[in-house]
Formats: sequence, structure tokens, C-alpha cells
Amino acid sequence: MAGFTHLFIPGPTNIPEQVRQAMNLPMEDMRAGSFPQFTLPLFEDIKKVFMNETGRVFIFPSSGTGAWESAMTNVLSPGDRVLMSRFGQFSHLWVDMAERLGLDVDAIDCEWGTGVPLDLYAEKLQADKAHRIKAIFCTQNETATGVTSDVAGCRAALDAANHPALLFVDGVSSIGSIDFRQEEWGVDCAVSGSQKGFMLPAGLGFLSVSKKALAAAKTATGRRCFFSFEDMIKTNDTGYFPYTPATQLLRGLRASLDLIAEEGLEAIFARHHHLAEGVRKAVGAWGLKLCAKEAKWHSDTVSAILVPEGIDSGDVVKRAYQKYQTSLGGGLNKVAGKVFRIGHLGWLNEVMVLGSLSAAEMTLLDCGVKLAPGSGVGAAIEHFRGPQQPAIAKAA
Ligand SMILES: *Cc1c(COP(=O)(O)O)cnc(C)c1O
Repeated sequence: MAGFTHLFIPGPTNIPEQVRQAMNLPMEDMRAGSFPQFTLPLFEDIKKVFMNETGRVFIFPSSGTGAWESAMTNVLSPGDRVLMSRFGQFSHLWVDMAERLGLDVDAIDCEWGTGVPLDLYAEKLQADKAHRIKAIFCTQNETATGVTSDVAGCRAALDAANHPALLFVDGVSSIGSIDFRQEEWGVDCAVSGSQKGFMLPAGLGFLSVSKKALAAAKTATGRRCFFSFEDMIKTNDTGYFPYTPATQLLRGLRASLDLIAEEGLEAIFARHHHLAEGVRKAVGAWGLKLCAKEAKWHSDTVSAILVPEGIDSGDVVKRAYQKYQTSLGGGLNKVAGKVFRIGHLGWLNEVMVLGSLSAAEMTLLDCGVKLAPGSGVGAAIEHFRGPQQPAIAKAA
């Protein structure tokens, strides 16, 4: 078929031309004497995206899931009590990994469409006078349901209870797109990956750790090898890696970090907020609802849209691809058939988002959803013509 195939899934996301071209280079020697001149500034600059000033960032040749595993196996020990919550496919998988790695998991099941239950976290931390809980986990952005949780609120719950537990955050679909401040919020392990807000292909897992997490790793007894902090630190400190790094992806990362610095994180967050609001206006104009139950849960990187009774959202996704060359995200697990998702993160702008809305609107009409042609797109257009507002931080 002629023309572009449009990618509006919440990862992998669209890749800027500068990033694509930066990766198109001959293979290089990862043990060359000049390699550290490239890698050492890279390690410093990626910390800025996490707003991590005093810790460090590990770059693994893995996906985000590898960075999850690295965080758990280096910083915790089998049998450690951890507090987690589950409200979508990704938070569900995180709990599953913690259990499989032998942690003693207290997993709170929440309604899908809501996020981290701060009140329950606060209560459990207050009650834990013996400090058995070693870490609490927060999925900052649940990609399956388009729900953003309050990371600063998790920090506040820890502080209110004067509790020393570590704070783990899954920021795979939020860091670099939605406000995240590791140092200020006292986050100990922040996980991300290359193929979402970082605008790269899949293949790099990022783990940004605090000094406290680095200290905990010295005594924790989780088994680690490929994902070992110690091996990474030893080699990274001199600008090298303990095994063959994905040099092309690292070159791409250099280009993407430069683009992020050029636009500025505040501007990036505001852009994502503006684009997301346009999508939400369209959804409202269609007479449809988001999976996210309340405005406080709205995600600025992905919208999960509930289809009307009698319509299969899988059908919407299939038809959008077949007929309009547009990839939308499907519903996962409990929301399979019920939601379709529009990923609106990374390298994109108003006109691209309008493309996704046009495709979604045509497909919804084709699937028999009763809506006025142009209603959603029109509402988004009106929004996009207006000024960008700063993204509102989740916590004051
Ligand atoms: C994509 C995603 C993951 C998984 O990352 P992979 O890179 O696919 O391993 C984990 N958590 C969240 C919130 C995600 O969006």
C-alpha cells in the first residue's frame, strides 16, 4: 500500500530521523581507546532524564523487563517482604516477576482503571513498625489501562511513616515523557527502556539507582550475573561494559539524549500533556470513555478507550491496521476486547495525533459505533489550536 504505515502503539514509538541516522554507522570496536570519550558523557547525560543527581544509571542490552530483574536481584534478597499493587498487565507482570524471584510479595489488587492505592500503602507502612517491608513498588504509568500514579505520593507515604523501605518505580512508559524526579522524590530504583519515551528501537533497558540502592546491593543476596551492578560498575567506571554493548543503540541514545536536552524536559512534558488532552477531547466528543476512572489517573502517554457494549476492540485494532495502515494498541488481559489504545508518546506532534484520531474515528464508524464523522477530530483540532499548558505535576 502507498504512503506511511502509522504507528500509534505505546511502544515501540516513532523514531526521529536524527536518531535513525545516528545508528546507521559501521560497527565499531567497543574496546577502542576512544570509546570512553563516547560512553562516559552518555552515562552522565542519561542521569539528567531521570533527574538523578547522586546515583547512577545502568544501561543493559535488554528490554525494560531486564532492568526490572536487575533492580530486584541486586537490591533485594529472596524472602524480602515487598509491597506492590496490580491494576493492569504491566503491574501484573511486575508482581509475577517478584514472586518468581522469591520475594515475599504483598500484592494489592486494585480495579483496572485506577492506580497505586496511596491510602493502603500509607496504612500498611504505618502498621509495619518492625520494618519488615523492604521495598514498595509503583508503576508510574500503567500502559495497559492508561493510568498514571502518584510517585511523589509514595514517597510521602514512606516519609509519613518514617519508614526506611526502598522505592521502586516502573517508568518504562513515562520517564522522559511525564514528570519524573528521582532525586526529589527519593526514588531508589527507576526502570525504563529504550523504545518508548526515549524514541529508540527496543534493545536497551535503563535502571537508574540511588546511592541507597547501591549500598543495599552490597549486602543483598539476590542471585545476579548478567544484570549484576558490581560487574557493570567495575567496567562502566572506565567507560566500558562487562560484555558486548549494543553500540548502534548507544549511538542512537546519544542522538535521542541530545534531542531531549534541546527541547527540554519541561517542554516535552507540556507537549505530551497537550497531545493527550487533544485525544481526551476526541474521546469525549465520540461519547466514549477512558478506562482510567478519574481525571487524576489520566495518562499523558497512552489513552485506553473503552468501546461500546457489543463492539470488540480487537476488531477495531485489526481493521485500523488492515484498512487504514494504522497500528493502534489492543486490550490486554482483563481489558482484552474492551479497550483499544492510542499511544501518544515520544517523537510526535499535533498533526500526527490527528492522524491517529482520524484512523480511530473511521474505524469506529466502520465497526458500527454511532458517532458523528469528524466529531472527535474536530474537538481535538479545537484543542490543538489553543496554547500549550504546562503539564501539571501529579503532586504539589
Ligand atoms: C513496555 C512496558 C514494560 C515492558 O518493557 P519491555 O521493554 O517490553 O520489557 C514494563 N512496564 C511498562 C509500564 C511498560 O509500558
